[in-house]
Amino acid sequence: SATFIAALSDLLGADNVITSGKNLTTLSQDFYWYSPVLRERIGDRYAAAAAKVSSLDQLKQIVSLAVKERVPLTVRGGATGNYGQCVPLFGGLVLDLTGMDKIIDLSDGVVTAEPGARLGIIENQARPLGWELRCYPSTWIKSTIAGFVGGGSGGIGSIAHGGLRTPGTIKQFKILTIEEEPRILTLDEAETMRVFHAYGTNGIIVEMQLRLAPARPWQQMVVSSADWDGLLNFADELAHDLDVPKRLLSVIEDPLPAYFKPIKKFYPEGHHVIFLEVDEASADAVAARAEAAGLEVPHRIPYHFPRKAPMLSDYTWNHTTLWALKADPAYTYLQCGYGENFREQVKTLQARFPGEMFFHFEFTRGNSKMGLEDNIVCGGVPVVKFSTEERLKEMIDACHEIGVFVANPHTCIIEEGGRDLGYDIQLELKAEADPHNLLNPGKMKQAPLPEFATPGSMPKFLYS
Ligand code: FAD
Repeated sequence: SATFIAALSDLLGADNVITSGKNLTTLSQDFYWYSPVLRERIGDRYAAAAAKVSSLDQLKQIVSLAVKERVPLTVRGGATGNYGQCVPLFGGLVLDLTGMDKIIDLSDGVVTAEPGARLGIIENQARPLGWELRCYPSTWIKSTIAGFVGGGSGGIGSIAHGGLRTPGTIKQFKILTIEEEPRILTLDEAETMRVFHAYGTNGIIVEMQLRLAPARPWQQMVVSSADWDGLLNFADELAHDLDVPKRLLSVIEDPLPAYFKPIKKFYPEGHHVIFLEVDEASADAVAARAEAAGLEVPHRIPYHFPRKAPMLSDYTWNHTTLWALKADPAYTYLQCGYGENFREQVKTLQARFPGEMFFHFEFTRGNSKMGLEDNIVCGGVPVVKFSTEERLKEMIDACHEIGVFVANPHTCIIEEGGRDLGYDIQLELKAEADPHNLLNPGKMKQAPLPEFATPGSMPKFLYS
């Protein structure tokens, strides 16, 4: 309402309340457009207003006003999420928290920060103190600490430390409840899975702690070959060799490396590639091992902090999709977890979908259910040519038939994205922290929709 917007403007200053124009469109979107299915389903969803918040005190007052008027609230950090997590399905107010970005403390291997602190800045401040992030997404320059835990899973570093779900990585959350008199709840280590990957549906993270790892000097290296099987043998063996400290081990199938325009001059055309980050002390031995296996090592690059030049990690994880999409907008993607027999699984998929599915693998340590142990797992984000939603479904079914796990990125609903996180604990927290169901409504399927939800106010797919 006009009075609500006027109250927001009084509180934040008119410049920090956006009610129209391109800025509002931009603040209503994330990277959902990677998916042609989501483009169709949620591409027309916009907030009525967006607020740029810079302090906890402001946030508390906005929440209180919004609860009185029953305004839906969608929180965003860097908005690099690729599942439409930040797209407001019911309009309402988008809360941009990138202004709440203080790093409160960085000591004893723990960072304590406000939600909008950027991961790249945390890494740059941590390294001179002898620490580094345990894992970070390839979007680390833009993405925020709370957005990563709210919508992400892991990334560079996960080969050594597992993903965000690995016990111990997330140390604490402080969340704000969505009530007329908002409260702060502190969730310690044992309770962090109640908030992790909940798409901002069950409390606003206002402060959090992540454990760090001792910093290492890394080296970036490209290993390449026209022989896919030979390259995979080497990658698989190196991934399991725990004596070689690694931060990144990505294997990327031709033609995908040809799409990496800024760096493709660094390796031969037609080659499949491995992009590696290894401890500097092991780098010579790893390069010699690759050459002894008949592979090429066409490029070795120092690792800069702060970052000065493009890094190999800018082409891995979901960034591979970005470069493929730049080359051909018909590409989209799936997010897969493979078994120990990943090579057989991929051969089956390659034979069934030639010219439609292209693979790259990310090796990580541990998974959602286990501790770190010696458990190296292989996942990846295959780039696929999109034709129809039915064809995409055939690909997902084919994955399931051979035991490949798919976290479906063509839905913005948490439960449909293939995550198995014990939603009951997240749902219970939602009942306590968001009793009027105002936070990012529609994204948590098991949660009730807000009282104002009518078919006319919802995207069709939510009720059809
Ligand atoms: P946002 O997109 O802003 O938010 C993500 C979710 O968290 C939203 O649901 C939002 O509502 C919620 N949220 C944000 N702030 C809060 C808060 N304060 N309280 C409660 N909820 C909140 N992800 C990976 O895990 N690993 C990768 O390697 C990776 N690579 C990517 C590459 C590309 C090219 C792209 C487009 C995406 C990639 N992603 C990856 C997804 C995404 O970039 C990351 O998960 C990133 O860390 C999200 O951070 P963000 O600040 O952009 O979050």
